[in-house]
Amino acid sequence: MKLVSFSTGSDERVGVVDVEREVVRDVTGLLPAGAGLLGLVEEWAELAPALNGDAPELALADVRLLAPIPRPRRNIFCVGKNYRDHVVEFGRSGYDSPDRSEAMPEHPVVFSKATTSVNGPFDDIDPHHDVTSELDYEAELGVIIGTGGRGITRDDAHAHVWGYTIINDFTARDLQRTHKQWLIGKSLDTHCPMGPYAVTADEIDDVTALMVESRVNGEPRQSAPVKDLIFDIPELIARLSAGITLLPGDIIATGTPAGVGIGFDPPRFMASGDVVEVSITGLGAQRNQVA
Ligand code: MG
Repeated sequence: MKLVSFSTGSDERVGVVDVEREVVRDVTGLLPAGAGLLGLVEEWAELAPALNGDAPELALADVRLLAPIPRPRRNIFCVGKNYRDHVVEFGRSGYDSPDRSEAMPEHPVVFSKATTSVNGPFDDIDPHHDVTSELDYEAELGVIIGTGGRGITRDDAHAHVWGYTIINDFTARDLQRTHKQWLIGKSLDTHCPMGPYAVTADEIDDVTALMVESRVNGEPRQSAPVKDLIFDIPELIARLSAGITLLPGDIIATGTPAGVGIGFDPPRFMASGDVVEVSITGLGAQRNQVA
């Protein structure tokens, strides 16, 4: 099932998308008032059966798609340096201050993006010219947690995955380097385009086969299968939950493949007017312009 948060004006509604027919079923009225897509994920076992009820259909073209989870309960967990070729390009770039290493990480590199960075899948990206001049994109698979828990084992990990979405871990590289810790450089407002869909795990036969891809102004930049992850999804869930309770609706951005702007020499940063597109097999595509 492909779920969306959408708006027809100033409201925020929940829908189920039929991609082939290009329509969205507005299921908001079938859910508790104010639940939103996040509330639906949190109470999935209880609420999902209600989605089969009668609901009005709207043309996809007539609605504005929002990030599937526009206001996560807490920061998005992110994994850095999780594709081999990207570790090398990042180490060479000199932006991994003070590390500057092309060595593969021995443990997952985990940071987070503030909830206020979340942006719609087709909305403009704020260039924040007052604080950064080095804008870069990172195409990533986002994992949405269903059942939470602590001490989740690798074997049990997939039972805790509610579904998947697309994340652009947009980054202000100069701030990432200057502040050493990555939070500020990763968290500027609008720098986390998400969606368009939140796709339930049962719709994906083999998540490791999905291709993560990006294009800038139509030019292909990144393309890699999820199976290239250094630390795979079960490992990330096991390591994160070893001492941190994962909650329903938590989002894990699993890392980006090679081909980001700082992978080029000289770096190719994004400028106002540039368009970045991120797509993943079966999860749709997002398209954001730098304002
Ligand atoms: Mg990233």
